[in-house]
Amino acid sequence: MEKRVYQEWKGSNIFLCGGRLFFGPDAKSVLLTVLLVLVPVIIFCVFVARHLFHEFSSYNSGYAVLLVTILFTVIVLFLLLLTSARDPGIVPRATHPPEEDLCYSSAISADGSRQTPTLQIPRTKEIIYKGKPVKIKYCDTCMVFRPLRCSHCSICNNCVEHFDHHCPWVGQCIGLRNYRYFFMFVSSSTVLCIFVFAMSAVYIKFLMDGHYPTVLKAMKKSPASIILMLYCFIALWFVGGLTCFHLYLISTNQTTYENFRYKAEGRRNIFDNGCLNNFMEVFCTKTKPSKNDFRAFVAAEASELPSQYYSNRHVVEETDDDTSGDPRAKVEDDLDLGGDLLKLSQRRHYEDFDEEMGRERSSNGRRAPDTTGNAVSRSDVRISSRDRRSGSWDIAPESLSINSS
Ligand SMILES: [Zn+2]
Ligand SMILES: [Zn+2]
Repeated sequence: MEKRVYQEWKGSNIFLCGGRLFFGPDAKSVLLTVLLVLVPVIIFCVFVARHLFHEFSSYNSGYAVLLVTILFTVIVLFLLLLTSARDPGIVPRATHPPEEDLCYSSAISADGSRQTPTLQIPRTKEIIYKGKPVKIKYCDTCMVFRPLRCSHCSICNNCVEHFDHHCPWVGQCIGLRNYRYFFMFVSSSTVLCIFVFAMSAVYIKFLMDGHYPTVLKAMKKSPASIILMLYCFIALWFVGGLTCFHLYLISTNQTTYENFRYKAEGRRNIFDNGCLNNFMEVFCTKTKPSKNDFRAFVAAEASELPSQYYSNRHVVEETDDDTSGDPRAKVEDDLDLGGDLLKLSQRRHYEDFDEEMGRERSSNGRRAPDTTGNAVSRSDVRISSRDRRSGSWDIAPESLSINSS
């Protein structure tokens, strides 16, 4: 029987409803988040809002409290679903490395002689963004050059466009396609928190104005109000703080991940288009369509490179050692962040950043125009993708020796 894309999915995601709902591997935490919203709301409706029905001078405004609470809760939960149950902007994996970027390179052995040339893929390549060279990095797992601002989430094991962070509370990556809904979820949770806090306080005030003249007596009459106020106060620090932080990020066009990196490296943000434009970009643009059709049937996979790939290529003796002689500093898959962005600032001294924005490379990479007219340099060549985790690509040694003869 033909399998669908979601059944063959290589990321760590969880699919529900036949691939219609798409969660991160920690999707169970969404249930906890739902409970953290629902339980206090139910307590509020039963123990506070119900008693406010007839407390306001205008008869119906008492009912409005309950209605507004329910409406807001539905909105918050709907936004949570939009954030966590859909494709956050995953870049589909390739079945083999990009052919146009493959090149041969001779490694120098210990005694100084050259060894058989091996197929290699450049570790990074440069593209031009706003007239400046920007490095993009090759992802070993997905076998693609990550688009600008794209990162590989180690929890989901996918490359995500406009990667913000992996949110354990929504059990999903926050990226290009769900950032807007994530922000709206967080900010509407903040409003709900403020509303529940305020209405609980109002109820205490009504009790004090009535038969319970002191705060203590009022608190004894409605302990639920006090618990709710305490809960909302603590939650406000979290969701309110997050809302403010993301308002700042949106206004400056940064992702959470970039923000930590800019701070760690003292780098300039090149994506800032002015506050208004930055907000428009997040809230007034159409959500980009998903690049993944999880329910599509899997096509017969071409696991091997086309045969003409071998016949048309020859080993070129390298006359300049711009790649092979360049000792590579440790390059970790720096975007395999997991949830711990804080570690970034500690790694600043030895980490090799990708997307080195605005930085001129110190090596003498060759530049050649790519199909889009952008200057692209071949540089930072590393050992080929053989025996990588993705494992679906392997070049037989015989193929290489044929070419080199
Ligand atoms: Zn990747
Ligand atoms: Zn993730």
